[in-house]
Amino acid sequence: MNAADVTISEVGPRDGLQNTKHFMPSAAKKAWISAEAAAGVHQIEVCSFVPAKLIPQFVDAAEVLAHANAIPGLTPVVLVPNFKGCERALAAGARRLTVPISVSEAHSMSNVRKTTAQAIEDFVRMADLVRSQARAERPQLVGACSTAFGCSLQGVVAENDVLRVALALREAGADAISLADTVGYANPEQVKRLFRKVRKALGEDFDIEAHFHNTRGLGLANALAAYEVGVRNFDSTLGGLGGCPWAPGASGNVVTEDLVFMFESMGVRTGIDIGKLIDVRNTVFAALPDAELYGHISKAGLPKGFQPLSQTA
Ligand code: ZN
Repeated sequence: MNAADVTISEVGPRDGLQNTKHFMPSAAKKAWISAEAAAGVHQIEVCSFVPAKLIPQFVDAAEVLAHANAIPGLTPVVLVPNFKGCERALAAGARRLTVPISVSEAHSMSNVRKTTAQAIEDFVRMADLVRSQARAERPQLVGACSTAFGCSLQGVVAENDVLRVALALREAGADAISLADTVGYANPEQVKRLFRKVRKALGEDFDIEAHFHNTRGLGLANALAAYEVGVRNFDSTLGGLGGCPWAPGASGNVVTEDLVFMFESMGVRTGIDIGKLIDVRNTVFAALPDAELYGHISKAGLPKGFQPLSQTA
């Protein structure tokens, strides 16, 4: 295993697949997860414990998680939308849970039919449930502040509202906080300002992570801005999979391959073998021939003389 300066968490099997039209067969999901883990990606968000009747893509959540749990050195992450999902995730052996809480009231009502305050109450119950697990089995709990940089329903999201939600989630027992640009509204100055504010409020040692979408083309710029103010954990999706249902044709998350290339070329070790990572695109594309995959480095190729810092055996 390579030492790494940043943690890149692949969220494609969850965020990327959430809005795809076609079901990705369970075997293809497992092959994707295995191949990316073999390329040195040590954290992968593998599924969502949302009711299958809402998002049929995740009907096989427990099966996919079981596969990921058996991969040595991999920390699988699961998304949990509510208390019931939390119970299911724990029963399935989840080791790291991401619970999204929309800072925007309009987004919260539309997504989970709860006010932000009600969603935080739910988070408190989930945190209590997680804490009641035996210490050896207790999973990590990440509170994700969704729409932290703006909302397609509400528009501007006040930074003080983000601070309030982040503090409430830490208070409830979150092990880490993520600031998510759910709809791709963020710009680099805003990213620096908000991460600095949240870090000041939560303390230097508290883990604050970044989740950016590339909807308006600023994904990498925002990731770099976050890195410059001390963020070391980034979500991204292979091939930028995961378009926004409200913005047809818009790209999805930050592209994992391009993010790895940016960091490795800057001298920041990702622990990820970029050549192997680029090859994983074929696995995904074969299973989702209709999906649009984005990204530059996979199309342009690595620069002549490029020396990757991270290579797997
Ligand atoms: Zn997202």
